[in-house]
Amino acid sequence: MSEKILLRHEDVAGLRRLDKYVEDGGYATARRVLSELQPEQVIEEVKLSGLRGRGGAGFPTGMKWGFLPKDNPKPRYLLVNADESEPGTFKDRQIIEHNPHLLLESTLIAAFAIQSHKAYIYIRGEFAHGAKVLEEAVREAVAAGHLGSNIYGSGFDLDIVVHRGAGAYICGEETGLIESLEGKRAYPRVKPPFPAVYGVFGSPTIVNNVETLCCVRPIMERGPAWFKAIGPEKSPGPKLYCLSGHVERPGVFELPMGTSLREIIYEHGGGIRGGKKVKAVIPGGSSVPVLTADEIDINMDFDAVAAAGSLMGSCGIIVMDEDTCMVRALRIIARFYHHESCGQCTPCREGTGWLERLLIGLEDGGATERDLDLLLQVAENMMGNTVCVLADAAAMPTKSFVTKFRAEFEEHLRMGGCPQKLAAASAVRASA
Ligand code: SF4
Repeated sequence: MSEKILLRHEDVAGLRRLDKYVEDGGYATARRVLSELQPEQVIEEVKLSGLRGRGGAGFPTGMKWGFLPKDNPKPRYLLVNADESEPGTFKDRQIIEHNPHLLLESTLIAAFAIQSHKAYIYIRGEFAHGAKVLEEAVREAVAAGHLGSNIYGSGFDLDIVVHRGAGAYICGEETGLIESLEGKRAYPRVKPPFPAVYGVFGSPTIVNNVETLCCVRPIMERGPAWFKAIGPEKSPGPKLYCLSGHVERPGVFELPMGTSLREIIYEHGGGIRGGKKVKAVIPGGSSVPVLTADEIDINMDFDAVAAAGSLMGSCGIIVMDEDTCMVRALRIIARFYHHESCGQCTPCREGTGWLERLLIGLEDGGATERDLDLLLQVAENMMGNTVCVLADAAAMPTKSFVTKFRAEFEEHLRMGGCPQKLAAASAVRASA
């Protein structure tokens, strides 16, 4: 797929500006949709396209829109999740910063489909530049009549508000995001009820990720059959892959869904830095099970990655070379989830702390014989026992790291700390 759809700004300079975006065909699709189609037709087209959410869960987007209750008289809301907080994930910000009108036009079409007259783009606090770009784009779009009242004379009104979060991982969870938007602490809610029934301000709400929404305009422009023909039938479309870690060329690559993980690392990412060997790869952001070097011959789509025992998640591919200490890598992941746990549920609040402390003992010394099994036991007890999936996000990598690299964890135990650190310390002593 040589033509860029989501990263079109890489082919067309200046696309961030409204005049350039319009010159490139921008807002023509929204104009046609609002003028010629009924909302149900848009939902049907999106269902036919097979679009699945790019935020992590991979849930079919059209089906999600269809869950909105038809008999609820309250206003409906569309929330654009631009929190992008999963470690290793940095794709949505590319669109936000360089092609904001693609997001606004797609939001307009989606809002029309679900008949929402108010959309919030919830953007994480650290994305200050992205928020400014979006705010400017909204101003431009309102001034040109692409947003506001009676858009294109269709009678449809839409107001888009850019709302800055304070920068917490849990605000990327849809109900945590809703609580935060309502001005409260971002405690995720117990589900059901799901946001489609009881969302922001108690109203029916759809929460969609940035990349997901940005597929909507191309689907309505080129048709669902075009979209469905890209990649695997059950997981189609263009996809943004975030590649980071020990590769020669880290970055965001737009490729068809289902591109092989090996191709992404070796062809697009230029292979492992310094000609080293790959040791492990996290395929979907830090919360998913790790893959070993022998497991990277898989296609990157929701079903294939799940069949390989991991998850596509947010598609943050983190590559680790042969020199990586897996205990240290897991300790860093555990520290993150311990810090980001909202503290609402005991298994998560206490469990994430236990995981980090056990890993500190393994890396720095002081761990006992039973600590490895205790690590697995704590992780096991965290899974499926909490309000949201942050506990699972900490437990899943723990289980896979310890299971797949057990010999390395046992070596840390035997040596009384990290062998790499101990060797470095003794080299310093010898040279002193
Ligand atoms: Fe908060 Fe963790 Fe419970 Fe999620 S699982 S609600 S982050 S304590």
